[in-house]
Amino acid sequence: MPLRLHRFNVWHPSAFSRLTSKNADGCKNDYPATISLAPHSVAHGKSCPKHSNSPLKISFADRLRTYHVSMATRLEVRGLTVKLPTRAGWIRPVNDVSFSLGEGETLGIVGESGSGKTMLALALMGLDPPGARRRGQAWLQPRSRGGEGQNLITAAPAEMRALRGREIAMIFQEPMTALNPMMRVGAQIEEAIRVHESGLSGSQVRERARQALERAAIPEPESRARQYPHQLSGGLRQRVMIAMALAANPGVLIADEPTTALDVTVQKQILELLANLRRELQLSMLFVTHDLGVVAQVADRVAVMYAGRIVEEGAASEVLRHPRHPYTEGLLRAAPQLTREKLTPIAGTVPALDALPPGCAFAPRCVHHVAECDAAVPDLRRPSGADENHHARCILVR
Ligand code: SF4
Repeated sequence: MPLRLHRFNVWHPSAFSRLTSKNADGCKNDYPATISLAPHSVAHGKSCPKHSNSPLKISFADRLRTYHVSMATRLEVRGLTVKLPTRAGWIRPVNDVSFSLGEGETLGIVGESGSGKTMLALALMGLDPPGARRRGQAWLQPRSRGGEGQNLITAAPAEMRALRGREIAMIFQEPMTALNPMMRVGAQIEEAIRVHESGLSGSQVRERARQALERAAIPEPESRARQYPHQLSGGLRQRVMIAMALAANPGVLIADEPTTALDVTVQKQILELLANLRRELQLSMLFVTHDLGVVAQVADRVAVMYAGRIVEEGAASEVLRHPRHPYTEGLLRAAPQLTREKLTPIAGTVPALDALPPGCAFAPRCVHHVAECDAAVPDLRRPSGADENHHARCILVR
């Protein structure tokens, strides 16, 4: 099912991107995708059930969102690299990462633990660990004022403090550790508001905090505001985190595994809440997760990370229906499905960053590995016949 993306990745408010989906075979858009795991270069045939006899049914496709947005670019990341000092020398948990994020768009950043997803998010927030060095560009187009964007990589600490919360905010993975256990949750939200709105009176700040809790669909916001984090359930704590992140109306929200610690019913409620808020507030969202099922529900586009690099990127419907990188295929095979009796894990583990193999970092785990893979790090290539924004970092992509 070819998905057509019309995109203008230029830095101007009038720039827009729009994605429309069109099925060349005349099949409906909501059938379960079928993905062949035959050798990579010949694996991606028809994805309609009436055409396919592939052994692996990937049913994420029926959860895919319909993507039809028109937007300006809100965040443009180019060649972002984060270096960390270790005893063995410098390592690069984020290595030459580039992507753009449009207004109102959700980009899913997917990968196993250790792939560099969280370090990427922290680097964009200016919260990378002490001693880290960042290189590259990350241009943020502020929502609250017109004019030029700001480079998050070169911004001074005071500038970053002014941007964090107001223009770009983050929801952390585990609210119990992200929230201050010694402060009532209302006071924590009020603090986030006061940082950016010093002219508000005490009652105005309290009212804004109450509204923030209400917007995060927290019942009885006045009484909840007086409670401490340990008095709330996991789902309510995550809603408080969302309320706090959105309290100063940022344009870009980074959600780092916001549903990982929650049970599935609460997870669904939080995903619905984020989807509603995104629509209401025209939020641009960077959704970091290891869960492909979650990505299928929330993301317009997907970037798959491995050993610090993006190894596959494209529209969510393209990447999840027609993965072109063996790592993405492996993630899909390893994901639980109701229709599947047995999971097939990816052999091996993510390599240590101070001991990456030459060439393709996925080579030690890849069943398609050949000598050519070790010559150099493969470029991101567009597979023939794929959507124009679908790319994979593999020599087998032709
Ligand atoms: S380039 Fe990497 S992913 Fe592609 S076949 Fe070679 S080892 Fe596998």
